[in-house]
Amino acid sequence: MQCRSSEELMSFVQEAKTMTQYGKVANYIPALGKAHPNDLAIAIQYPDGISFSAGDIQKRFTLQSISKVISLALVLMDRGSEYVFERVGMEPTGDPFNSIAKLETMAPSKPLNPMINAGALVVTHMLVGQSVEDRFQRLLTFTQELANDTTIGYCKDVAQSEFETAHLNRSLSYFLKQHQIIDEDVEELIDLYTKQCAIEMNTLNLARVGMIFAMDGNDPLTGKQLMSADVARICKTFMVTCGMYNASGEFAIKIGIPAKSGVSGGIMGAVPCKFGVGVFGPSLDEKGNSIAGVHLLESLSKTYHLSMF
Ligand code: GLN
Repeated sequence: MQCRSSEELMSFVQEAKTMTQYGKVANYIPALGKAHPNDLAIAIQYPDGISFSAGDIQKRFTLQSISKVISLALVLMDRGSEYVFERVGMEPTGDPFNSIAKLETMAPSKPLNPMINAGALVVTHMLVGQSVEDRFQRLLTFTQELANDTTIGYCKDVAQSEFETAHLNRSLSYFLKQHQIIDEDVEELIDLYTKQCAIEMNTLNLARVGMIFAMDGNDPLTGKQLMSADVARICKTFMVTCGMYNASGEFAIKIGIPAKSGVSGGIMGAVPCKFGVGVFGPSLDEKGNSIAGVHLLESLSKTYHLSMF
């Protein structure tokens, strides 16, 4: 059984929307604090080209941590998995996404995985190119290819707002530099990382990106192989084990699909071999995941038996 109409999706949105009142919009990046807490949207993209969407689907939002999956895919393609995993680990942390704790207690002090901020900063550091602009442009072009939309850009306000306030991410970067995990100028890295996090799209774009991961890196609608099946497999595995921060275990039990969330309230899901899903709901739970978005995905997963386990 599959969801085959926007009306069906709308009933899930209406039911989940009541949850938005129990969360809070992220405001540690001041520009994100302007989001409307009651917004909720979902889109599904099937590999046959059919898509459905419901809710506040015209809204664009920044990817934030969802961008970590995209930068990881690009870096794995450019550098190979051996190089990448010499510098960042493969294990979940159980700590909040921005925690510095394990960097100090683990030896060697390479970050535990690419989905936490410390690991994502190392991945961004590995993006290939001559300059910050060049590296960012490559990442943006790759994102546009995944979404099949060349109009995708980044939100300058959000990037600037995060750049001005990213003291914790600077601390993580200086720690990594001290331990020779990275060797670039920290201000340049934060510039690149905050632009990466500020890449902006709507739920349908996000569903399309999710579909590429669901289809093992292949875009069935253009026939292009945008990443190898192996790279897609590694990314999906991280989405299952670490994609929802320190709520990944609960999400795997209740919903059971590879997914990645961001503090803007976005969630990208990849239902293996079936479809991609994009969700946006900026009201967050205490772990930083969209409170209504997770609820929505849980209803969808239960109704359509989406769990892969
Ligand atoms: N840009 C955000 C940060 O580094 C991303 C975090 C997130 O979405 N969890 O804090």
